[in-house]
Amino acid sequence: MKKYYIITYGCQMNESDSEKIAFQLEKEGYKPAKAMEQADLAIINVCSVRQSAINRVHSKIKQLKSLKLKIILTGCILEKDKKKFKDQVDQIWPIIDFKAKSKYKPDKKALVPIMTGCNNFCAYCAVPYTRNREKSRPVDEIIKEVEALVKKGYKEIILLGQNVNSYQNFPALLQSLNNIPGKFQIKFLTSHPKDMSDELIKVIAKSKKISREIHLSVQSGNNQILKKMNRGYTIQDYKKLIRKIRKVIPKAEISTDFIVGFPNETEKQFEDTVKLIKEIGFKRAYVSAYSPRANTAAFKLKDNVPSNEKKRRKRIILDMLKHAQ
Ligand code: SF4
Repeated sequence: MKKYYIITYGCQMNESDSEKIAFQLEKEGYKPAKAMEQADLAIINVCSVRQSAINRVHSKIKQLKSLKLKIILTGCILEKDKKKFKDQVDQIWPIIDFKAKSKYKPDKKALVPIMTGCNNFCAYCAVPYTRNREKSRPVDEIIKEVEALVKKGYKEIILLGQNVNSYQNFPALLQSLNNIPGKFQIKFLTSHPKDMSDELIKVIAKSKKISREIHLSVQSGNNQILKKMNRGYTIQDYKKLIRKIRKVIPKAEISTDFIVGFPNETEKQFEDTVKLIKEIGFKRAYVSAYSPRANTAAFKLKDNVPSNEKKRRKRIILDMLKHAQ
């Protein structure tokens, strides 16, 4: 019997895509291999949103080639990267349909994509080019999937989307999921501040099954950088939103994402991010060092913050958050 092995890089959406690939392969008669040395087929599900992931893929392909197995590349890959990898792998598969069935992990936490793609075009991000514009799944289909998971004993349902809260009528979807009988918790990732409506905040407040940890990407604490990133809000808007959330949901805990070293980010502009962290008191944050991606608006700007400086800024934020917890 043929065996497969999947290597996943990137965000939880890619994790979920790997679960769908696994389901599909098992339907075709493949069995999972415990180690890649035992596999006949290796799938690298990659994220080309960060250059560091692309570099890792090159070395992974070299390693797999020495094992003489069939290598498939898939995931969030920019066209320019596809060209580079074309001759190094056996096949390149398009991203799997986000409506396909999943082989969920046995840990009782299920990833449930509800939408994919993005219409926002943040200046640094390749997602609108790799996953294209926003597409949503029908409400009924999502409700059925969650009902079945709860029946199977799943305790944590993580709704996924590149811009999850721009799902059409997201508050109504959350309310319907909250009404499903059983003991479980609902989380959702990743939210854009501009789509965090008053109605959505109210629904979270009155729905007991929705997690109080709210993830709201801010990316920078400086208005000029936010404008260059094309994020569509100011730091004043963001702080106002957090005040509103905390007023309506007193137990809310805010987590976020930062990018340090965006082109021309000065020390002073970075200090605004430090100031914001002190003011908000984030529960958690994911920090990445800026890396240029082809096609994006920021690609035309010079990547002029030295990598040591990016690392230093990243460390400062991570240390601050460690002390905050
Ligand atoms: S909202 Fe998120 S996925 Fe969409 S372009 Fe911005 S960073 Fe990328």
